[in-house]
Amino acid sequence: MKKTKVRRMFVLDGGSFIYETGMMKFGTDMDKRERVCTPFYAFDTEEGWFLYDTGWFHPALPLLDQLGMAPEIGEENNTVNQLKKIGVVPSDISSIIISHLHVDHAGGLPFFPDVKIYVQKDEYMYAFHPNSFLSVPYIQQAYNSPGLIWEFLEGDQSIIPGLTVVLANGHTPGLQALLVELPESGFYILGSDSAYLYDNIENNIPPGSSWNPVLAQYAVKRCKALQTVLDAKYFPGHDLEFFREKVNYAAEYK
Ligand SMILES: [Zn+2]
Repeated sequence: MKKTKVRRMFVLDGGSFIYETGMMKFGTDMDKRERVCTPFYAFDTEEGWFLYDTGWFHPALPLLDQLGMAPEIGEENNTVNQLKKIGVVPSDISSIIISHLHVDHAGGLPFFPDVKIYVQKDEYMYAFHPNSFLSVPYIQQAYNSPGLIWEFLEGDQSIIPGLTVVLANGHTPGLQALLVELPESGFYILGSDSAYLYDNIENNIPPGSSWNPVLAQYAVKRCKALQTVLDAKYFPGHDLEFFREKVNYAAEYK
């Protein structure tokens, strides 16, 4: 294995909102709702700054209010202001890896014209023609803004030594997790919505909101297999309690 080119990782805070637990854990806790977080990530690498996801598309926040999702997502949570906390400006970003094109992950893309965006081709195609019952989180203004430069991936791929995308589709047709290798603390699997909550990981539960729940369960199990083999830490996509207890926002991970 080639030596990792990732020097440091930062977890950034895209804010929180309330969501149905049954939409996150297939067939369980259908009567419950809970507050969830929206992390995204920045990486200082030998090939410039990379992002994994970009947080919410803020012009769509009134929709969350209408849907009773009680967003706690302020100006300080937007992509640019979160980067400012770690001393980074948008023009420092050389590449973005996007887990999938839902509005809470792809929302910051309009800040980054002329930056290469790695996305699964299947995700990009679906995002313009989703099934009607899965269309709400696909807000085209977030990923159809002028000047965006797309690099289409088909399955697993090493982007640079230390950053490898792992196809983890099922929640959506082209969801990709990110396998990160840091020089001192080793491997991390950033699962995005392959696992909304840590409970999805622990109990092999696919997301309730799934384009294909069977593939979604395979995705969680594939990431868990990698977790075991590599002795990795597996971060779920939206688990507020997990991030509160185990993660420090804007702190340096080496
Ligand atoms: Zn999603």
